[in-house]
Amino acid sequence: MKLDAEVLEVFTNELKLCGVKPGENLVVLTADDEWQENAHAFMAAAGRLGATTFNLNVRRGERNAVGVQGRHPLVGNELAMRTLKSADMVIDMVGLLFSREQAEIQAAGVRILRVMEPFHVLKQMFPTEDLRRRVEHAKGMLERARELRFASAAGTDVTYRLGQYPVISEYGYTFEPGRWDHFPSGFSFTQGDDGGVDGTVVLQPGDILCAFKKYVESAVTLRIEKGYVVDISGTGMDAQLIKSYIDSFGDPRAYAVSHIGWGLNEKARWYQFSVTRNLPGEHVMNALSFYGNVLFSLGPNLEVGGTNDTACHLDLPMRRCSLWLDGERILEDGDIVHPAMRVVTAA
Ligand code: FE
Repeated sequence: MKLDAEVLEVFTNELKLCGVKPGENLVVLTADDEWQENAHAFMAAAGRLGATTFNLNVRRGERNAVGVQGRHPLVGNELAMRTLKSADMVIDMVGLLFSREQAEIQAAGVRILRVMEPFHVLKQMFPTEDLRRRVEHAKGMLERARELRFASAAGTDVTYRLGQYPVISEYGYTFEPGRWDHFPSGFSFTQGDDGGVDGTVVLQPGDILCAFKKYVESAVTLRIEKGYVVDISGTGMDAQLIKSYIDSFGDPRAYAVSHIGWGLNEKARWYQFSVTRNLPGEHVMNALSFYGNVLFSLGPNLEVGGTNDTACHLDLPMRRCSLWLDGERILEDGDIVHPAMRVVTAA
């Protein structure tokens, strides 16, 4: 396979941020023929840094379709699990997020980096020390907070009680044993206490339905009681799309409110889908990470140690919201106003 010099350079820099060093074992996990060029380049980069590396390739199979969270080829594959748990670092190109298997590999002290975007997105959103600093600041604030509220002029006003669940940071690289991250990314998030989310969320045109890779075009009102969406209304098609998608899983837990946080990556683009929706292979990291979005979501909470493992997950990045932690303002009308997390552009 041909190796592009620029790809090798970018991936080597990424693995340097991840602290990959001689003597370490780095496993690149792939399924079928997916992401072969990225996998090959990551192994070349790991070799350059003196690590031992190989590609563990598994069959995805019918039941493990991309996009269905928590259903993947490692379920029941003991030998593959033992191998991954013996590594120092795993590059995940299969998508273990929200699975018990990912939690098990992390618990064995293995750091995991998920990489499931094409090279042009990895390069465009490449992480920095400053992004890590701002994401970690968000994590610290979320860990101390007992209440998160976000609201908008469009009618959103919802409150999360916090404290029951941990906070997870994603800044795009990982160098600590057992820590998971996602390249590229740029946000921290947590989960409301069980039964502790109440209010109303009004999705507006320009907010993003990540599961469909499309922008909301008609307002959708979600009424939330005790951590569950109890009513979805709206006169346009989007309310029907969301409702029929969730219902198709036949699982009432799909209506649970999932993780909450806000985007901090100034390199990520809100408009990305509008210019790349016809390109194959691009996932949703621009949409989840763009600076100033409130990342509202529905579905599972396994990732933060909860018990809801519904396969239905809806990420719904929202623009033009204001957000407070224990009354301290973080976002105002879609802009980061907290000085510790705001991007300061050089004069
Ligand atoms: Fe999500």
